[in-house]
Amino acid sequence: MTVFEGATSVLGVAGSIGTLIALAALSVLIAYLLAAQWLHSKGDAAKAAIAKGDDKLLARLLGGLAIPLDKLSPDQKYALAAEELRTRARQRKIAYALTFFGFLALLGFVLALVLSPKKREEEPSARKPVQLDLLAALNILRYVPVVERPQLCLTLMAKENCDRAAPMIAGLTFQTPTANQDKVIEQAVGTGRINEAQANQLAACRGKFEFKVVNNMLVCADGTTLPTIAISDGRRLIDAQSAIVLHATVTGKDAPFASVADFIANGRPGLQGPLAHLLISASGAIAQTAPMNHVASHVGISVPWQGMQVKNSNAIGVEMIHTGDYQNEPYPANQLRATTAVVQALMHAYDISTVVGHNEIAPAGRKTDPGPGVAAEIRRRLGLSAG
Ligand SMILES: [Zn+2]
Repeated sequence: MTVFEGATSVLGVAGSIGTLIALAALSVLIAYLLAAQWLHSKGDAAKAAIAKGDDKLLARLLGGLAIPLDKLSPDQKYALAAEELRTRARQRKIAYALTFFGFLALLGFVLALVLSPKKREEEPSARKPVQLDLLAALNILRYVPVVERPQLCLTLMAKENCDRAAPMIAGLTFQTPTANQDKVIEQAVGTGRINEAQANQLAACRGKFEFKVVNNMLVCADGTTLPTIAISDGRRLIDAQSAIVLHATVTGKDAPFASVADFIANGRPGLQGPLAHLLISASGAIAQTAPMNHVASHVGISVPWQGMQVKNSNAIGVEMIHTGDYQNEPYPANQLRATTAVVQALMHAYDISTVVGHNEIAPAGRKTDPGPGVAAEIRRRLGLSAG
């Protein structure tokens, strides 16, 4: 809970107590007026009955009395009636006040119920940070002038994600947006969030999943560049691109894309990057984490696949963001579509026909990513022999 939320809830409680006090005061006032009115009319009627000597009527007005009225003088009757009616008026005040308070409280409760769903719908857009694929947000930021990026970043993503994404944002080049992208940006800015459909729209190459390779970099079929993680020079160059190895990151469900991409591009102390060439998000957004002619450390110890020894120096690594819970979490459709299209572009660019899963070339039990049957499914989609 933030200071502001705390203050808001304190104000809310104070406001509720204030409302209750106001309702109670209003109820007492109404009860007082009604009881006074009742007393006045009954008093007049009692006076008239005493003047006429109508004891039956007086007894009825006083609600049936045990005392025999015919033994009393008119003055005594009047004193008795006044006392009796005042007592009953006091009881009425209390009953009226409780009834009205109950009624007003119920009315307030019903009104609050009727009005609250609207409030619940409004709250998330105002307060909840956007939980979308970070690369999708970066895809928007690419079309925003540099000076406006930090503000839009905070609008689109949580502050934490913005901090992690800062190096990537800094490296993104400005491009003139198309009318369609303008619209997406406008919506994202206007509402402060984008929905899943828009995130898909913002997937690599705006969800078209058609790629080609230019100068060892993956680009959209129309030449639009993809987000690239800053890559230091002086990496070892690959011998030949002879195979494509599919991997899963086995990262937490909410692992920020930017930090995963940064890790795969740059590694960590004791584990030198790059650890793959391409990273594909659940929604099908893509980051290039190494040029295809650099060696990436992604294969490790391997066994031959159909006569070929697949290794770091001859294979392109493609990582898919996934938790590694292959039993319960199928790969999202956009992620499989993006992966298939990326592999197709790589096969075409480098004349590759070997597409394997890391689990298929690792010695038994060493690696399970990207999961049973995943590489076979990609091969099937590409018209390669699935086995
Ligand atoms: Zn792997």
